[in-house]
This record gives sequence, C-alpha cells and structure tokens, in this order.
Amino acid sequence: MTALARPDFGEMERPALEDALEGRGHERFRARQIFQWIYQRGVADLAAMTDLSRELRAALAQEFTLATPALLQRETSIDGTEKFLLRLHDGRTIESVFIPDTPAMTFCISTQVGCAMACAFCLTGKMGLVRNLTAGEIVGQVRVLADTLSMRDARFNIVLMGMGEPLHNYDETMKALRILADEHGFNLSPRRITLSTVGLLPALERLAREPIMPNLAISLHAPTDVQRGELVPINRKYGIGDVIEACKRFPLKRRSRITFEYVLLSGVNDRPEDARRLAKLLAGVKSKVNLIPLNAAPGIPFERPSDAAIDQFARILAERGLFVSVRKSRGRDIRAACGQLIVEGQRKSTGQRLADAAFAK
Ligand code: SAH
Repeated sequence: MTALARPDFGEMERPALEDALEGRGHERFRARQIFQWIYQRGVADLAAMTDLSRELRAALAQEFTLATPALLQRETSIDGTEKFLLRLHDGRTIESVFIPDTPAMTFCISTQVGCAMACAFCLTGKMGLVRNLTAGEIVGQVRVLADTLSMRDARFNIVLMGMGEPLHNYDETMKALRILADEHGFNLSPRRITLSTVGLLPALERLAREPIMPNLAISLHAPTDVQRGELVPINRKYGIGDVIEACKRFPLKRRSRITFEYVLLSGVNDRPEDARRLAKLLAGVKSKVNLIPLNAAPGIPFERPSDAAIDQFARILAERGLFVSVRKSRGRDIRAACGQLIVEGQRKSTGQRLADAAFAK
C-alpha cells in the first residue's frame, strides 16, 4: 500500500474513523481512544498510545497516517501576539496567529492558502487563491498552536480570520468545525468559534441550516453597493441588500448578534455620512459593529484614518443605538494583524512582489 492510499486520522470525523477501523477488522470504540490521544493529549505518535495493544498499534501504523503541519517559524510581537508559519505536506505554507488576552485566548486560523476574494485592502487577497486547506490542515493548526503554547488543557476561542475565505472552502471548513466539536476531541463549543466571511450568499444560506453553528461575522466594510463593490469585489455578485436579508433570517441563539466588520479607510468609507448610512442599513438586524482601523501595508493603496475620525464614526453609530467596538490592532510589528498574512515563495502575484520588496527594506 502506498503512503498516499493510507487514510489520515486527522482528516476523519469520528464516525468515519469508526467505519474505517471496523472495515480493517478493529473495534469501533478505538476511534474514541485515538481521538483522545490526538486531540486531548496532543500525542501524534501511535507508538505512544499506550492503551492500545502493541499489535493494534503496529497494525494501525501500517494502515493509517497522521499528517501534522510543521512549524517553520514562530514570531512574537511586543504585545504578546504570536505568529506561526506552518508548512503543509505539499510544501505550501500558511500562517496562524495566537492573540492572548482579548480577554480570551484566541487562535486565528486559516482556511485557504491565499484567497480568491481580492479585497482591495487585504494582503492575503493579493496572493490569489493557491488552494483550499483540508479539514485536517485547518484542525492541524489548532493542534500545533495548542501544543506549542502548552494550551491543550486551556480554554481558547477560534476565529476563522486567518488566510482565506471560509465559506469558499465550505465542506472542509464545516468538517473541521465538527472535528473540533467532538466530545472526545477538543470538545470545543461552536460558541467559541467565529466564522468571518465576505458573505457568499448561497453558502451563507447553507450555513444557516447547519447543526453546528459558529458565531457569524460579516465583512461589510461599506454601506452602499457602489462603495462595497470597489472594496470587496464579490459584492458585484452578491449585493449588500441580499446579504443583510440573509443575516436577518439567520437563526441566532438568544442574546447573540451578528458581528459586522468594517475596515476604516481614510476618506473612503469613514465619513459621517457613511456612518449614518451604515446605521440605517443595520437597523433591525441583531448586530454589533466591529470597526477595524486599516492595518496599512506597502502595496495597499489606502490609509488608516485619524483617531479623531475613528472616534467620530463610532460615536455616530453608538448614538443611533448600535453596539460598536473598535478592534485593537495586535501584532502589527510582526505583520500578524488583520489583512497582513501573506507568505512568500508561493504563487507570486504583482501585489505580493510589491509587498515582498517593501518588507525586505
Ligand atoms: N475572508 C474572511 C476572513 C478574512 S480576515 C473575511 O473576509 O471575513 C478577517 C478580517 O480582516 C476581515 O474583516 C478582513 O476584511 C479584515 N482585513 C483584511 N485586510 C485588512 C487590513 N489591511 N486592515 C484591517 N483589516 C483587514
């Protein structure tokens, strides 16, 4: 049997692993033990799974594999944020970020290598889409961060706000959420997970019917279709009105709200009239607005507004009864902040070459 033909433990939900074990003549309940070793104890080496018999371990080692992203580099920001550069089995690389004390401990996880959405202010978007991540690679980031940070037993939240558009990699992202939620694995409540999306309408409607429902964040960034179409190209296909209607229908738990992310760009979408339009748009939606002052970068043709403009924008929303927060930029010194994740040596787009050149300075 070639290595490629062996199923990967990390890619399987527990019921699928049970079936795979049974199909090879093993007991189904071994799946529970294997999940506990991999996800609760952080043991990737079959030889160390000591409550499985020696014979079983030997057989499983022939029949299965477990791929784990390799940690290439770890950088720490002066604010405690840490960025992890990980290599996947095919040599592609991705970044994941640990953000301590937000007040929770948060892992910011990628769902794709690169991204196809091409938002005008985002460096990842300049890479284009290289490929989707598998569920095992999405969960693998969580395994590597939890181990490296000695946080297997700690509580943490997950935000799908790293590289990629999670709803553009729908099946693998949802599978990853189910693996993370497994009671014999990380046992992570979907309430601890936030999925951030540009609002791919069909996928958003599908998400509304999922048994495992993460918190939802919509990257809105502008109150009109004309403005948003310039910043978030997919808006030309799925306009603001439809996205907001889908949000109104979204089955929210009691007391929960949809977060609307809004990157503030000086002179582009940060004017008082933009704030007033935004407030009007969100009237009647169970929402909270998270303002994200732009993390500027070379190759990104926008500027961060002044603190006064940010305050004024937030005040206009608050006066109209909206819940507003301003996202504190974390890890900017190590290029770990929102929209700054980009990795070199993959497909080189013009934007990435620009960014590479500027970073090298
Ligand atoms: N594709 C998903 C997840 C992306 S990142 C999405 O679009 O929601 C999470 C947030 O960071 C998004 O709201 C994204 O628009 C924002 N972001 C991207 N580039 C940024 C930048 N340069 N400065 C600040 N926020 C940025």
